[in-house]
Amino acid sequence: MSDAPVTDLSTEIARRRTFAIISHPDAGKTTLTERILRAGGAIQLAGNVRAKGERRRTRSDWMSIERDRGISVVSSVMTFEYGGCIFNLLDTPGHEDFSEDTYRTLTAVDSAVMVIDAAKGIEDRTRKLFEICRLRDIPIVTFINKMDREAQDPFALLDEIASSLALDTAPATWPVGRAAKFVGTYDILSKKLHTQEELAPTDPRMEQLAEELELAEGALPEFDRESFDAGHLTPVFFGSAMKEIGVTDLLDALVAFGPSPRSQVAETRTVKADEPGMTALVFKIQANMDPNHRDRIAFARICSGKLERGMRLRHTRTGKSFAVHTPQFFFARDRQLAEEAFAGDVVGIPNHGTLRIGDTLTENEDLKFTGVPHFAPEILRRVRLDDAMKAKKLKQALTQLAEEGVVQLFKPQDGAQPIVGVVGTLQLDVLQARLKAEYGVAIGFDNTPFSLARWVTGPREKIETFAQVNRSAMADDLDDDPVFLATSSFMMRRTQEQNPDISFHDIKQIG
Ligand code: GDP
Repeated sequence: MSDAPVTDLSTEIARRRTFAIISHPDAGKTTLTERILRAGGAIQLAGNVRAKGERRRTRSDWMSIERDRGISVVSSVMTFEYGGCIFNLLDTPGHEDFSEDTYRTLTAVDSAVMVIDAAKGIEDRTRKLFEICRLRDIPIVTFINKMDREAQDPFALLDEIASSLALDTAPATWPVGRAAKFVGTYDILSKKLHTQEELAPTDPRMEQLAEELELAEGALPEFDRESFDAGHLTPVFFGSAMKEIGVTDLLDALVAFGPSPRSQVAETRTVKADEPGMTALVFKIQANMDPNHRDRIAFARICSGKLERGMRLRHTRTGKSFAVHTPQFFFARDRQLAEEAFAGDVVGIPNHGTLRIGDTLTENEDLKFTGVPHFAPEILRRVRLDDAMKAKKLKQALTQLAEEGVVQLFKPQDGAQPIVGVVGTLQLDVLQARLKAEYGVAIGFDNTPFSLARWVTGPREKIETFAQVNRSAMADDLDDDPVFLATSSFMMRRTQEQNPDISFHDIKQIG
């Protein structure tokens, strides 16, 4: 994908930039994505990712978008080249009902760009997404968007980020002019002015800039690479995605200080990105993306080394090996065979259901990456099948969609109809629509008496006895791990007290 000759491994890896954009709906993520892709030459015209603005759409609109799988391809990962670096921009779903998907995607990035609306400051969902990044010490770059409108004062914004997220803020650029008179930025690090029009030194905007810079210098922290890498300090950029101000400041900074691919933690050791052995982690599965080919793509982040097309890989969950003949890169509009991919890159691997979320692939080492979790669902529903003849088909379809992470599947041990678990009800709508559209199975949902699901671990005999006593409240998940379903948190607590030998978990590490 690059004209440069293939050089050594560490040079290739050092120029990978894999990131996601996090924001509250409406802050400008879609617009910024468009501008970034445009700056990277990935799209000619803004507007190509427009269809991603699913939050503002109605439910039914969203469903038809979801059915048009082509758009999801666009939004999963977008690879482009800028400033000598290969960027992989991973999309996170905007709607909070898909937060589990977002969490998993954030396990595959090396940094996140946090977009903030200059008038609104830190909003709810920004904070939540930020907390997820913090759990993993992901370095954050902040982009304060919509400076072309009435905005809060830059000092106040920096202050708000610092105090509300407990994160040091170092301005990397400073806005020149405000609202309708916002014309560009001053790059504090390189001391260069980037304005869309020539400004005389006597222009009031230049005078304001000089004054504010002097104040900022004394009062605000300087950019510190180490604190940034550790996730303690965020460089802050001002701009307007809409007016294309500040977008290249942001990209230039990502080129300059990365970060490049980080180490990834596995059960037995930590894997460094520039190790020669190839390792990869599957963080997302998407099935039936192309309605003409019932294919299923596993999105894998290369964690170390180099993947070559045709390579034989070990699938460490099953111990089996298989050859990857058609790994793919995804661009804004199309996909392409990946002849080679390096640590940091995200490739799509077509498969027929062998690969699951959380799976590790290696050249031969027996290794399992950690950190891709399942969260206990907050809503449980029993699936009601309208046509009893389709029971087998339903079972297969539910398994596939659960493997994809659309919902979590719980198979009651007493043989009753399957129960699905979700974080947000929109997931149920997606399940229902996809079962109909892709598998021709019509279902409804019935309430269950259960409100909580907990994974059960402990000595085998204890679990067996427990399961016998509580048979109607026991289910197996997708991996056949036992799950206890409780009708209330009161009952959950009581069950826990009565069974001290057994542990109940609301998070399950996949892998
Ligand atoms: P998302 O929900 O975060 O993806 O936000 P969008 O990119 O869809 O933007 C939300 C709204 O804000 C749209 O109407 C955009 O046109 C508008 N918008 C985005 N960026 C800017 C900006 O820099 N300035 C102004 N004035 N409006 C913007």
